[in-house]
Amino acid sequence: MPRKWRNLIVVLADQLDAAHPALEAADPAKDGVVMIETIGEAGHVTSHKHRITLCLSAMRHFAEALQTAGWKVDYLELDDGYLTLGAGLTHAAQQRRPEAIWWVQPGEWRVQAHLHATASDLGIPVRQFEDSHFYVTNDEFAAWAKGRKQLTMEYFYRQQRARFDILMDDGAPIGGQWNFDQDNRKAFPKAGPGALPAIPSFPPDRITKAVIATVEHHFPDHPGGLDHFDWPVTREQALQALDAFIEERLTNYGRYQDAMWQGEPFLYHALIASSLNLKLLNPREAVDAAVQAWQRDPDRFPLAAVEGFVRQIVGWREFIRGVYWLKMPGYAELNHFDHQTPLPAWFWTGDTEMNCLRQTISDTLDNGYAHHIQRLMIIGNFATLAEIRPVEVCDWFLAVYVDAIEWVELPNTLGMALHGDGGIVGSKPYVASGAYINRMSNYCGGCRFKPSRRTGDDACPFNALYWNFLMKHRESLGRSPRMRMVMKNLDRWDAEELAAIETRAATVRDALKH
Ligand code: SF4
Repeated sequence: MPRKWRNLIVVLADQLDAAHPALEAADPAKDGVVMIETIGEAGHVTSHKHRITLCLSAMRHFAEALQTAGWKVDYLELDDGYLTLGAGLTHAAQQRRPEAIWWVQPGEWRVQAHLHATASDLGIPVRQFEDSHFYVTNDEFAAWAKGRKQLTMEYFYRQQRARFDILMDDGAPIGGQWNFDQDNRKAFPKAGPGALPAIPSFPPDRITKAVIATVEHHFPDHPGGLDHFDWPVTREQALQALDAFIEERLTNYGRYQDAMWQGEPFLYHALIASSLNLKLLNPREAVDAAVQAWQRDPDRFPLAAVEGFVRQIVGWREFIRGVYWLKMPGYAELNHFDHQTPLPAWFWTGDTEMNCLRQTISDTLDNGYAHHIQRLMIIGNFATLAEIRPVEVCDWFLAVYVDAIEWVELPNTLGMALHGDGGIVGSKPYVASGAYINRMSNYCGGCRFKPSRRTGDDACPFNALYWNFLMKHRESLGRSPRMRMVMKNLDRWDAEELAAIETRAATVRDALKH
Protein backbone atom coordinates (compact mmCIF):
# COMPACT_ATOMS: atom_id res chain seq x y z
CA MET A 1 0.00 0.00 0.00
CA PRO A 2 1.53 3.40 -1.00
CA ARG A 3 2.34 5.77 1.82
CA LYS A 4 -0.49 7.98 3.06
CA TRP A 5 -0.26 11.71 2.33
CA ARG A 6 -1.78 14.41 4.55
CA ASN A 7 -2.95 16.69 1.73
CA LEU A 8 -3.17 15.76 -1.93
CA ILE A 9 -2.38 18.82 -4.08
CA VAL A 10 -3.78 18.81 -7.61
CA VAL A 11 -1.59 20.82 -9.99
CA LEU A 12 -3.35 21.46 -13.30
CA ALA A 13 -1.77 22.01 -16.73
CA ASP A 14 -2.24 25.79 -16.57
CA GLN A 15 -0.95 26.15 -13.00
CA LEU A 16 2.77 25.62 -13.51
CA ASP A 17 3.48 28.47 -11.16
CA ALA A 18 6.80 28.88 -9.36
CA ALA A 19 4.74 30.55 -6.62
CA HIS A 20 1.85 28.05 -6.70
CA PRO A 21 -0.26 29.09 -3.67
CA ALA A 22 -1.17 25.55 -2.55
CA LEU A 23 2.44 24.39 -2.76
CA GLU A 24 3.57 27.45 -0.81
CA ALA A 25 1.12 26.53 1.95
CA ALA A 26 2.05 22.82 1.95
CA ASP A 27 4.78 20.78 3.60
CA PRO A 28 6.74 18.53 1.23
CA ALA A 29 7.43 16.16 4.12
CA LYS A 30 3.72 15.48 4.66
CA ASP A 31 1.86 16.53 1.51
CA GLY A 32 2.13 15.30 -2.07
CA VAL A 33 1.24 16.39 -5.58
CA VAL A 34 -0.80 14.73 -8.29
CA MET A 35 -0.60 15.82 -11.92
CA ILE A 36 -2.93 14.16 -14.39
CA GLU A 37 -2.78 13.93 -18.18
CA THR A 38 -6.10 12.76 -19.59
CA ILE A 39 -7.47 11.92 -23.00
CA GLY A 40 -10.66 13.78 -22.08
CA GLU A 41 -8.93 17.10 -21.30
CA ALA A 42 -6.46 16.92 -24.19
CA GLY A 43 -9.31 16.11 -26.57
CA HIS A 44 -12.08 18.20 -24.96
CA VAL A 45 -12.02 20.25 -28.15
CA THR A 46 -10.16 19.14 -31.29
CA SER A 47 -6.96 20.74 -30.05
CA HIS A 48 -4.05 21.70 -32.23
CA LYS A 49 -1.14 19.31 -31.73
CA HIS A 50 1.11 22.18 -30.61
CA ARG A 51 -1.40 23.08 -27.89
CA ILE A 52 -1.51 19.54 -26.51
CA THR A 53 2.26 19.13 -26.80
CA LEU A 54 2.91 22.43 -25.04
CA CYS A 55 0.60 21.60 -22.13
CA LEU A 56 1.91 18.08 -21.58
CA SER A 57 5.56 18.93 -22.05
CA ALA A 58 5.32 21.92 -19.71
CA MET A 59 3.53 19.74 -17.13
CA ARG A 60 6.21 17.04 -17.30
CA HIS A 61 9.01 19.59 -16.99
CA PHE A 62 7.25 21.16 -14.00
CA ALA A 63 6.77 17.75 -12.34
CA GLU A 64 10.46 17.00 -12.79
CA ALA A 65 11.38 20.35 -11.23
CA LEU A 66 9.07 19.65 -8.27
CA GLN A 67 10.67 16.26 -7.71
CA THR A 68 14.14 17.80 -7.87
CA ALA A 69 12.98 20.30 -5.23
CA GLY A 70 11.96 17.44 -2.95
CA TRP A 71 8.25 17.10 -3.67
CA LYS A 72 6.51 13.74 -3.92
CA VAL A 73 4.65 13.68 -7.24
CA ASP A 74 2.20 11.13 -8.58
CA TYR A 75 2.31 11.83 -12.31
CA LEU A 76 -0.32 10.08 -14.44
CA GLU A 77 0.60 10.08 -18.13
CA LEU A 78 -1.73 9.94 -21.12
CA ASP A 79 -0.67 6.34 -21.72
CA ASP A 80 -1.94 5.42 -18.22
CA GLY A 81 -5.37 5.75 -19.81
CA TYR A 82 -7.31 8.06 -17.47
CA LEU A 83 -10.19 9.49 -19.46
CA THR A 84 -11.01 12.34 -17.08
CA LEU A 85 -9.36 14.40 -14.35
CA GLY A 86 -11.89 12.90 -11.96
CA ALA A 87 -10.80 9.36 -12.79
CA GLY A 88 -7.14 10.23 -12.24
CA LEU A 89 -7.88 12.12 -9.03
CA THR A 90 -9.97 9.23 -7.70
CA HIS A 91 -7.12 6.82 -8.35
CA ALA A 92 -4.59 9.07 -6.62
CA ALA A 93 -6.90 9.71 -3.65
CA GLN A 94 -7.54 5.98 -3.18
CA GLN A 95 -3.78 5.35 -3.19
CA ARG A 96 -2.80 8.24 -0.93
CA ARG A 97 -5.87 8.42 1.37
CA PRO A 98 -5.43 12.17 2.08
CA GLU A 99 -7.21 14.13 4.78
CA ALA A 100 -7.94 16.87 2.25
CA ILE A 101 -7.53 17.67 -1.44
CA TRP A 102 -6.09 21.05 -2.32
CA TRP A 103 -6.10 22.92 -5.60
CA VAL A 104 -5.90 26.43 -6.96
CA GLN A 105 -9.00 27.70 -8.76
CA PRO A 106 -8.91 26.16 -12.26
CA GLY A 107 -8.97 28.30 -15.40
CA GLU A 108 -12.22 26.79 -16.58
CA TRP A 109 -15.63 26.70 -14.92
CA ARG A 110 -16.29 23.15 -16.20
CA VAL A 111 -13.08 21.82 -14.62
CA GLN A 112 -13.81 23.54 -11.31
CA ALA A 113 -17.28 21.91 -11.17
CA HIS A 114 -15.83 18.54 -12.18
CA LEU A 115 -13.14 18.58 -9.46
CA HIS A 116 -15.63 19.58 -6.78
CA ALA A 117 -18.01 16.80 -7.88
CA THR A 118 -15.17 14.26 -7.78
CA ALA A 119 -14.04 15.28 -4.29
CA SER A 120 -17.63 15.19 -3.10
CA ASP A 121 -18.06 11.64 -4.46
CA LEU A 122 -14.85 10.68 -2.67
CA GLY A 123 -16.10 12.29 0.54
CA ILE A 124 -12.84 14.19 1.01
CA PRO A 125 -12.81 17.86 2.08
CA VAL A 126 -11.46 20.41 -0.38
CA ARG A 127 -9.47 23.59 0.00
CA GLN A 128 -9.59 25.74 -3.11
CA PHE A 129 -6.94 28.47 -3.18
CA GLU A 130 -7.32 31.84 -4.87
CA ASP A 131 -5.08 32.07 -7.94
CA SER A 132 -2.44 34.57 -6.78
CA HIS A 133 -0.98 34.73 -10.30
CA PHE A 134 -3.46 37.49 -11.11
CA TYR A 135 -3.36 41.08 -9.90
CA VAL A 136 -7.09 41.16 -9.13
CA THR A 137 -9.13 38.54 -7.27
CA ASN A 138 -12.58 37.48 -8.47
CA ASP A 139 -14.15 39.11 -5.41
CA GLU A 140 -12.35 42.37 -6.08
CA PHE A 141 -13.55 42.34 -9.67
CA ALA A 142 -17.11 41.58 -8.61
CA ALA A 143 -16.97 44.50 -6.15
CA TRP A 144 -15.70 46.80 -8.93
CA ALA A 145 -18.42 45.61 -11.33
CA LYS A 146 -21.26 45.88 -8.84
CA GLY A 147 -23.82 48.51 -9.79
CA ARG A 148 -22.12 49.48 -13.07
CA LYS A 149 -24.36 49.63 -16.14
CA GLN A 150 -21.44 48.97 -18.47
CA LEU A 151 -18.19 47.19 -17.59
CA THR A 152 -15.73 49.49 -19.32
CA MET A 153 -12.22 48.07 -19.45
CA GLU A 154 -10.61 51.50 -19.62
CA TYR A 155 -11.98 52.53 -16.18
CA PHE A 156 -10.99 49.19 -14.67
CA TYR A 157 -7.51 49.57 -16.13
CA ARG A 158 -7.03 53.07 -14.73
CA GLN A 159 -8.03 51.90 -11.29
CA GLN A 160 -5.49 49.04 -11.39
CA ARG A 161 -2.72 51.31 -12.70
CA ALA A 162 -3.29 53.62 -9.74
CA ARG A 163 -3.76 50.79 -7.25
CA PHE A 164 -0.53 49.03 -8.21
CA ASP A 165 1.35 52.27 -8.93
CA ILE A 166 2.34 51.32 -12.47
CA LEU A 167 3.51 54.14 -14.75
CA MET A 168 2.16 56.66 -12.26
CA ASP A 169 3.59 59.91 -11.00
CA ASP A 170 2.09 61.36 -7.85
CA GLY A 171 -1.37 59.94 -8.59
CA ALA A 172 -1.39 60.91 -12.28
CA PRO A 173 -0.51 58.75 -15.29
CA ILE A 174 3.02 59.27 -16.53
CA GLY A 175 3.05 61.20 -19.78
CA GLY A 176 -0.17 63.01 -18.83
CA GLN A 177 -2.55 60.48 -20.35
CA TRP A 178 -3.70 56.93 -19.64
CA ASN A 179 -3.65 55.69 -23.18
CA PHE A 180 -1.37 56.36 -26.17
CA ASP A 181 -3.30 54.54 -28.86
CA GLN A 182 -3.14 57.43 -31.25
CA ASP A 183 0.63 56.75 -31.50
CA ASN A 184 0.06 53.05 -32.07
CA ARG A 185 -1.64 50.88 -34.67
CA LYS A 186 0.12 51.95 -37.81
CA ALA A 187 0.22 49.91 -41.02
CA PHE A 188 3.55 48.91 -42.55
CA PRO A 189 4.82 50.94 -45.49
CA LYS A 190 4.06 49.56 -48.97
CA ALA A 191 7.51 47.95 -49.13
CA GLY A 192 6.69 45.91 -46.04
CA PRO A 193 8.06 45.59 -42.52
CA GLY A 194 11.70 45.16 -43.62
CA ALA A 195 14.06 42.95 -41.61
CA LEU A 196 12.27 41.64 -38.54
CA PRO A 197 13.99 40.48 -35.35
CA ALA A 198 14.60 36.74 -35.07
CA ILE A 199 12.17 34.88 -32.84
CA PRO A 200 13.81 32.74 -30.13
CA SER A 201 13.45 29.03 -30.70
CA PHE A 202 13.13 26.30 -28.10
CA PRO A 203 13.62 23.02 -29.95
CA PRO A 204 12.24 19.82 -28.41
CA ASP A 205 14.36 18.19 -25.70
CA ARG A 206 14.08 14.61 -24.39
CA ILE A 207 10.78 15.28 -22.59
CA THR A 208 9.15 17.16 -25.45
CA LYS A 209 10.22 14.50 -27.96
CA ALA A 210 8.50 11.84 -25.86
CA VAL A 211 5.36 14.00 -25.65
CA ILE A 212 5.37 14.52 -29.42
CA ALA A 213 5.39 10.73 -29.95
CA THR A 214 2.50 10.38 -27.50
CA VAL A 215 0.47 13.15 -29.14
CA GLU A 216 1.02 11.71 -32.63
CA HIS A 217 -0.13 8.34 -31.28
CA HIS A 218 -3.28 9.51 -29.51
CA PHE A 219 -4.35 12.44 -31.68
CA PRO A 220 -3.17 11.69 -35.25
CA ASP A 221 -6.12 13.52 -36.85
CA HIS A 222 -5.93 16.70 -34.81
CA PRO A 223 -4.93 19.91 -36.62
CA GLY A 224 -1.34 21.05 -36.90
CA GLY A 225 1.93 19.24 -37.49
CA LEU A 226 4.76 18.42 -35.10
CA ASP A 227 7.63 18.45 -37.58
CA HIS A 228 8.48 21.72 -35.86
CA PHE A 229 7.66 22.79 -32.30
CA ASP A 230 9.47 25.54 -30.45
CA TRP A 231 7.23 27.07 -27.81
CA PRO A 232 8.76 27.65 -24.34
CA VAL A 233 7.97 24.70 -22.06
CA THR A 234 9.90 25.67 -18.92
CA ARG A 235 10.10 28.74 -16.72
CA GLU A 236 13.69 29.37 -17.86
CA GLN A 237 12.62 29.32 -21.50
CA ALA A 238 9.63 31.55 -20.74
CA LEU A 239 11.96 34.09 -19.12
CA GLN A 240 14.20 33.96 -22.20
CA ALA A 241 11.15 34.54 -24.43
CA LEU A 242 10.18 37.56 -22.31
CA ASP A 243 13.70 38.92 -22.45
CA ALA A 244 13.84 38.52 -26.24
CA PHE A 245 10.55 40.38 -26.61
CA ILE A 246 11.69 43.28 -24.43
CA GLU A 247 15.07 43.59 -26.13
CA GLU A 248 14.05 42.94 -29.75
CA ARG A 249 10.40 43.77 -30.29
CA LEU A 250 8.96 46.00 -27.56
CA THR A 251 10.20 49.15 -29.32
CA ASN A 252 7.84 48.54 -32.25
CA TYR A 253 5.17 46.58 -30.38
CA GLY A 254 2.65 49.40 -30.05
CA ARG A 255 3.30 51.07 -33.38
CA TYR A 256 2.61 47.92 -35.41
CA GLN A 257 0.27 45.97 -33.16
CA ASP A 258 -2.58 46.20 -35.67
CA ALA A 259 -0.48 45.66 -38.81
CA MET A 260 -0.53 42.40 -40.78
CA TRP A 261 1.84 41.11 -43.41
CA GLN A 262 1.63 37.94 -45.49
CA GLY A 263 4.22 35.32 -44.55
CA GLU A 264 5.13 37.12 -41.30
CA PRO A 265 3.11 35.46 -38.54
CA PHE A 266 4.93 36.99 -35.54
CA LEU A 267 6.03 40.55 -36.45
CA TYR A 268 6.59 42.54 -33.22
CA HIS A 269 4.13 40.63 -31.03
CA ALA A 270 5.14 39.50 -27.56
CA LEU A 271 4.64 35.72 -27.96
CA ILE A 272 4.48 35.27 -24.20
CA ALA A 273 0.74 34.61 -23.80
CA SER A 274 1.16 30.83 -23.70
CA SER A 275 3.83 31.17 -21.00
CA LEU A 276 1.69 33.60 -18.99
CA ASN A 277 -1.42 31.47 -19.30
CA LEU A 278 0.37 28.28 -18.19
CA LYS A 279 1.80 30.44 -15.35
CA LEU A 280 5.40 29.80 -16.36
CA LEU A 281 5.64 33.58 -16.28
CA ASN A 282 4.11 35.93 -13.76
CA PRO A 283 2.37 39.01 -15.20
CA ARG A 284 4.23 41.23 -12.71
CA GLU A 285 7.54 40.06 -14.22
CA ALA A 286 6.37 41.02 -17.69
CA VAL A 287 5.04 44.42 -16.61
CA ASP A 288 8.14 45.19 -14.53
CA ALA A 289 10.45 44.23 -17.40
CA ALA A 290 8.65 46.58 -19.81
CA VAL A 291 8.48 49.48 -17.34
CA GLN A 292 12.14 49.05 -16.38
CA ALA A 293 13.14 49.05 -20.06
CA TRP A 294 11.37 52.41 -20.48
CA GLN A 295 12.99 53.78 -17.29
CA ARG A 296 16.40 52.65 -18.57
CA ASP A 297 16.11 54.01 -22.09
CA PRO A 298 12.93 55.95 -22.93
CA ASP A 299 14.20 56.83 -26.42
CA ARG A 300 14.57 53.18 -27.34
CA PHE A 301 11.46 51.94 -25.53
CA PRO A 302 8.77 54.58 -26.13
CA LEU A 303 6.12 55.17 -23.50
CA ALA A 304 3.36 54.47 -26.09
CA ALA A 305 4.69 50.93 -26.63
CA VAL A 306 5.26 50.25 -22.93
CA GLU A 307 1.86 51.62 -21.90
CA GLY A 308 0.16 49.57 -24.65
CA PHE A 309 1.82 46.40 -23.37
CA VAL A 310 1.00 47.21 -19.72
CA ARG A 311 -2.63 47.83 -20.69
CA GLN A 312 -2.87 44.40 -22.31
CA ILE A 313 -1.70 42.71 -19.11
CA VAL A 314 -2.90 44.84 -16.20
CA GLY A 315 -6.03 46.03 -17.99
CA TRP A 316 -7.35 43.70 -20.63
CA ARG A 317 -6.13 40.33 -19.31
CA GLU A 318 -7.36 40.96 -15.77
CA PHE A 319 -10.64 42.47 -17.00
CA ILE A 320 -11.36 39.48 -19.23
CA ARG A 321 -10.76 37.05 -16.38
CA GLY A 322 -13.02 39.04 -14.10
CA VAL A 323 -15.82 38.98 -16.68
CA TYR A 324 -15.40 35.21 -17.16
CA TRP A 325 -15.86 34.33 -13.49
CA LEU A 326 -18.54 36.97 -12.98
CA LYS A 327 -20.70 35.71 -15.85
CA MET A 328 -20.10 31.97 -16.05
CA PRO A 329 -21.63 29.46 -16.63
CA GLY A 330 -24.42 31.21 -18.59
CA TYR A 331 -21.94 33.38 -20.52
CA ALA A 332 -20.81 30.51 -22.80
CA GLU A 333 -24.35 30.09 -24.15
CA LEU A 334 -24.90 33.71 -25.22
CA ASN A 335 -25.72 34.37 -28.86
CA HIS A 336 -26.79 38.02 -28.98
CA PHE A 337 -27.41 38.19 -32.74
CA ASP A 338 -28.84 34.65 -32.93
CA HIS A 339 -26.24 33.71 -35.54
CA GLN A 340 -26.79 30.15 -36.79
CA THR A 341 -24.47 29.55 -39.76
CA PRO A 342 -22.37 26.40 -39.12
CA LEU A 343 -18.60 26.84 -38.92
CA PRO A 344 -17.26 26.26 -42.47
CA ALA A 345 -15.10 23.13 -42.81
CA TRP A 346 -12.27 25.24 -44.26
CA PHE A 347 -11.63 26.74 -40.82
CA TRP A 348 -9.75 23.46 -40.22
CA THR A 349 -7.77 23.57 -43.50
CA GLY A 350 -7.48 27.19 -44.65
CA ASP A 351 -8.82 26.12 -48.02
CA THR A 352 -10.69 29.28 -49.01
CA GLU A 353 -10.25 31.78 -51.84
CA MET A 354 -10.28 34.69 -49.40
CA ASN A 355 -6.57 35.33 -49.05
CA CYS A 356 -6.68 37.10 -45.67
CA LEU A 357 -8.49 34.13 -44.14
CA ARG A 358 -6.35 31.59 -45.99
CA GLN A 359 -3.15 33.19 -44.68
CA THR A 360 -4.41 33.66 -41.13
CA ILE A 361 -5.74 30.12 -40.84
CA SER A 362 -2.56 28.72 -42.42
CA ASP A 363 -0.47 30.64 -39.87
CA THR A 364 -2.73 29.22 -37.17
CA LEU A 365 -2.41 25.65 -38.40
CA ASP A 366 1.36 25.97 -38.85
CA ASN A 367 2.14 27.41 -35.43
CA GLY A 368 -0.89 27.14 -33.17
CA TYR A 369 -0.69 30.91 -33.22
CA ALA A 370 -1.99 33.98 -35.02
CA HIS A 371 -1.48 37.46 -33.65
CA HIS A 372 -4.29 39.40 -32.04
CA ILE A 373 -5.34 41.51 -35.01
CA GLN A 374 -5.50 38.45 -37.27
CA ARG A 375 -7.70 36.76 -34.69
CA LEU A 376 -9.88 39.84 -34.11
CA MET A 377 -10.19 41.58 -37.46
CA ILE A 378 -9.78 38.69 -39.90
CA ILE A 379 -11.28 35.61 -38.26
CA GLY A 380 -13.56 37.15 -35.62
CA ASN A 381 -14.68 39.89 -38.01
CA PHE A 382 -15.54 37.37 -40.70
CA ALA A 383 -17.30 35.02 -38.26
CA THR A 384 -19.47 37.90 -37.01
CA LEU A 385 -20.32 39.20 -40.46
CA ALA A 386 -20.99 35.70 -41.84
CA GLU A 387 -23.28 35.00 -38.87
CA ILE A 388 -21.42 31.88 -37.73
CA ARG A 389 -22.73 30.20 -34.59
CA PRO A 390 -20.67 31.64 -31.67
CA VAL A 391 -20.32 28.39 -29.75
CA GLU A 392 -18.62 26.77 -32.76
CA VAL A 393 -16.29 29.74 -33.25
CA CYS A 394 -15.38 29.71 -29.55
CA ASP A 395 -14.63 25.99 -29.60
CA TRP A 396 -12.44 26.52 -32.66
CA PHE A 397 -10.48 29.34 -30.96
CA LEU A 398 -10.09 27.20 -27.84
CA ALA A 399 -8.79 24.31 -29.95
CA VAL A 400 -6.28 25.95 -32.26
CA TYR A 401 -4.30 28.47 -30.19
CA VAL A 402 -1.48 27.45 -27.88
CA ASP A 403 -2.37 30.20 -25.41
CA ALA A 404 -6.08 29.35 -25.18
CA ILE A 405 -7.42 28.58 -21.72
CA GLU A 406 -11.16 29.10 -21.42
CA TRP A 407 -11.07 32.04 -18.97
CA VAL A 408 -9.12 34.08 -21.52
CA GLU A 409 -10.38 32.58 -24.76
CA LEU A 410 -14.13 32.78 -24.17
CA PRO A 411 -14.63 36.48 -23.32
CA ASN A 412 -12.07 37.44 -25.98
CA THR A 413 -13.85 35.42 -28.67
CA LEU A 414 -17.50 35.59 -27.68
CA GLY A 415 -17.36 39.08 -26.21
CA MET A 416 -14.71 41.03 -28.06
CA ALA A 417 -14.43 39.29 -31.43
CA LEU A 418 -18.08 38.26 -31.97
CA HIS A 419 -20.04 40.72 -29.78
CA GLY A 420 -22.03 37.58 -28.98
CA ASP A 421 -22.46 38.73 -25.36
CA GLY A 422 -24.40 41.78 -26.53
CA GLY A 423 -21.90 44.29 -25.18
CA ILE A 424 -20.70 43.00 -21.80
CA VAL A 425 -17.06 43.09 -22.92
CA GLY A 426 -17.10 45.67 -25.72
CA SER A 427 -19.46 48.56 -26.38
CA LYS A 428 -19.68 47.85 -30.13
CA PRO A 429 -18.87 44.97 -32.52
CA TYR A 430 -15.38 44.87 -34.00
CA VAL A 431 -16.48 44.66 -37.62
CA ALA A 432 -14.87 46.12 -40.71
CA SER A 433 -15.03 45.90 -44.47
CA GLY A 434 -12.30 44.82 -46.89
CA ALA A 435 -11.06 48.43 -46.99
CA TYR A 436 -9.75 48.10 -43.42
CA ILE A 437 -7.99 44.81 -44.17
CA ASN A 438 -6.52 46.34 -47.33
CA ARG A 439 -5.24 49.32 -45.34
CA MET A 440 -3.69 47.25 -42.55
CA SER A 441 -2.15 44.39 -44.59
CA ASN A 442 -0.92 43.28 -47.99
CA TYR A 443 -3.35 40.34 -48.16
CA CYS A 444 -5.63 41.89 -50.77
CA GLY A 445 -2.85 42.11 -53.36
CA GLY A 446 -2.76 38.32 -53.47
CA CYS A 447 -6.51 37.78 -53.47
CA ARG A 448 -8.87 36.97 -56.33
CA PHE A 449 -11.42 39.38 -54.80
CA LYS A 450 -11.32 43.16 -55.04
CA PRO A 451 -11.51 45.10 -51.76
CA SER A 452 -12.87 48.14 -53.64
CA ARG A 453 -16.03 46.32 -54.83
CA ARG A 454 -19.20 45.74 -52.82
CA THR A 455 -21.20 43.65 -55.26
CA GLY A 456 -20.48 41.26 -58.11
CA ASP A 457 -18.66 37.93 -58.21
CA ASP A 458 -15.23 39.46 -57.74
CA ALA A 459 -16.27 41.76 -54.87
CA CYS A 460 -14.55 41.21 -51.54
CA PRO A 461 -16.98 39.07 -49.51
CA PHE A 462 -16.28 41.13 -46.38
CA ASN A 463 -17.82 44.19 -48.05
CA ALA A 464 -21.36 42.98 -48.72
CA LEU A 465 -21.36 41.08 -45.44
CA TYR A 466 -20.26 44.21 -43.59
CA TRP A 467 -22.81 46.58 -45.08
CA ASN A 468 -25.54 43.99 -44.82
CA PHE A 469 -24.69 43.52 -41.14
CA LEU A 470 -24.98 47.27 -40.57
CA MET A 471 -28.30 47.33 -42.47
CA LYS A 472 -29.70 44.51 -40.34
CA HIS A 473 -28.66 46.13 -37.07
CA ARG A 474 -29.09 49.72 -38.17
CA GLU A 475 -31.24 50.76 -35.27
CA SER A 476 -29.27 49.20 -32.40
CA LEU A 477 -25.79 49.95 -33.79
CA GLY A 478 -26.81 53.45 -34.81
CA ARG A 479 -27.30 54.28 -31.14
CA SER A 480 -23.55 53.89 -30.57
CA PRO A 481 -21.79 57.24 -31.03
CA ARG A 482 -18.82 55.30 -32.42
CA MET A 483 -20.96 53.85 -35.22
CA ARG A 484 -23.01 56.88 -36.24
CA MET A 485 -20.55 58.22 -38.83
CA VAL A 486 -20.19 54.95 -40.66
CA MET A 487 -23.97 54.39 -40.62
CA LYS A 488 -24.41 57.58 -42.65
CA ASN A 489 -23.08 55.70 -45.68
CA LEU A 490 -26.25 53.64 -45.75
CA ASP A 491 -28.31 56.82 -46.20
CA ARG A 492 -26.35 57.71 -49.32
CA TRP A 493 -27.18 54.53 -51.22
CA ASP A 494 -30.43 53.95 -53.14
CA ALA A 495 -32.75 50.98 -52.71
CA GLU A 496 -31.21 49.19 -55.70
CA GLU A 497 -27.70 49.34 -54.23
CA LEU A 498 -28.92 48.19 -50.81
CA ALA A 499 -30.81 45.26 -52.42
CA ALA A 500 -27.70 44.28 -54.40
CA ILE A 501 -25.66 44.27 -51.18
CA GLU A 502 -28.26 42.10 -49.50
CA THR A 503 -28.26 39.61 -52.40
CA ARG A 504 -24.46 39.42 -52.51
CA ALA A 505 -24.27 38.88 -48.72
CA ALA A 506 -26.85 36.08 -48.90
CA THR A 507 -24.86 34.44 -51.73
CA VAL A 508 -21.65 34.58 -49.67
CA ARG A 509 -23.36 33.12 -46.60
CA ASP A 510 -25.07 30.37 -48.63
CA ALA A 511 -21.75 29.34 -50.13
CA LEU A 512 -20.41 28.76 -46.60
CA LYS A 513 -23.02 26.08 -45.98
CA HIS A 514 -21.82 23.85 -48.85
FE1 SF4 B 1 -9.66 39.45 -47.65
FE2 SF4 B 1 -11.34 40.80 -49.22
FE3 SF4 B 1 -8.79 41.48 -49.13
FE4 SF4 B 1 -9.52 39.21 -50.29
S1 SF4 B 1 -10.06 41.27 -50.95
S2 SF4 B 1 -7.80 39.50 -48.89
S3 SF4 B 1 -11.22 38.58 -49.00
S4 SF4 B 1 -10.22 41.60 -47.46
